[in-house]
Amino acid sequence: MQAFYRAKRGKTTIYKFLNSKIYKIMAKMKTEDYIKREEKFGAHNYHPIPVVLERGEGVFLWDVEGKRYFDFLSAYSAVNQGHCHPKIIGALNEQAGKLTLTSRAFHNSCLGEFEEYITKYFGFDKVLPMNTGVEGVETALKLCRKWAYKKKGIEEGKAKIIVCENNFHGRTIAAVSMSTDPDARKDYSPYTPGFVKVPYNNIDALEKELKDPNVAGFLLEPIQGEAGVYVPDDGYLKKASELCKKNNVLFIDDEVQTGLARTGKLLACDHEDVRPDILILGKALSGGVFPVSAVLADDDIMLTIKPGEHGSTYGGNPIAAKVAIAALEVIKEENLAEKAERLGKIFRDELKKIDSEMIEIVRGKGLLNAVVVKPKNGKTAMDVCLKMSEHGVLAKPTHGHIIRFAPPLVINEEQLREALQLIEKSIRFFD
Ligand code: PLP
Repeated sequence: MQAFYRAKRGKTTIYKFLNSKIYKIMAKMKTEDYIKREEKFGAHNYHPIPVVLERGEGVFLWDVEGKRYFDFLSAYSAVNQGHCHPKIIGALNEQAGKLTLTSRAFHNSCLGEFEEYITKYFGFDKVLPMNTGVEGVETALKLCRKWAYKKKGIEEGKAKIIVCENNFHGRTIAAVSMSTDPDARKDYSPYTPGFVKVPYNNIDALEKELKDPNVAGFLLEPIQGEAGVYVPDDGYLKKASELCKKNNVLFIDDEVQTGLARTGKLLACDHEDVRPDILILGKALSGGVFPVSAVLADDDIMLTIKPGEHGSTYGGNPIAAKVAIAALEVIKEENLAEKAERLGKIFRDELKKIDSEMIEIVRGKGLLNAVVVKPKNGKTAMDVCLKMSEHGVLAKPTHGHIIRFAPPLVINEEQLREALQLIEKSIRFFD
């Protein structure tokens, strides 16, 4: 026993020494060293802007050299409540010291509280908690198919779900099967059958496909975020939901990116007073702290899934439950939807005033906006983003020629105007 403790003490000393040595090496590491290490040991499935971030607070991020940036991506709208929001981090810390995971084999004391809170918050009978956005999407697809066979009476194996061209619903096989983006799809066949693709923002095309009695659902993003912040025409969502109702087809609303105050309303569908049959939430449901997603629906849909027919080990865990309640509270307490609406207008107006040949279009809703960049002298949206990062604003191009601007919604007007000046300076650099 004594020998055991001696060995253990020895080990602790070694660990301490190693740690301090590692710390010394780390202290000398520069941006390039961090990037090289990632490139050496990590898969090359992303092409990040070359900054290495180590701290965040509110709208700001700091890199390993101590440089401060305005975050204008918010982790693809996951950090609507701002980096390390004290209330959300407080909930995380408090729960982390108590109970983290039980699986759904047992009940936990936080899940019911979250379920009651979120269903009342959004006005649905039931919620099914998952973790990532794409798991939310998969859950919605399964729920829709289940409903098709159990309620609508479609013959087993025949159910179809209509999706939109240029959609982005995540990276699983089902999600890439729905995709029309060659980069997302290429070399991942065979694809999952049962999806019908229609052009986005085209009511006639949708109406035609809805005539097929085997159609069970219509899945869409109320604004196509990844495609480049495509905002459909006014009335499209309303008309689409009415057509779904008329044809007994479920309207499935993927608000993983657009939801939770980002576009100036709690949900982007709220702009047209549309209540989806199935609502998918993710990203900002935890304020960027923890992977939490959720699918909401009423009993006649949700209760078609029975015990053992769907689930997730981490889905509905105690930390996720507490963190999500705090994240939803922050949205209401800090009036983030109203803020996004007001500041979004200022942002678009000011961007439109910039007189630059590189700005082709400015579009968006609330604080989900994009600039379509016209290349000039071989300089592209990526060059503009690199220049912005030099000037202290972080954003990333999508599809090569579009820059999405989505700051944390806790940004204030003064900060927004300061960032706008830096954005203008970066774009003008190429004129
Ligand atoms: N749905 C939409 C609309 C999204 O924008 C995304 C991610 O960007 C997803 C689903 C997938 O979310 P996650 O990356 O958390 O799986």
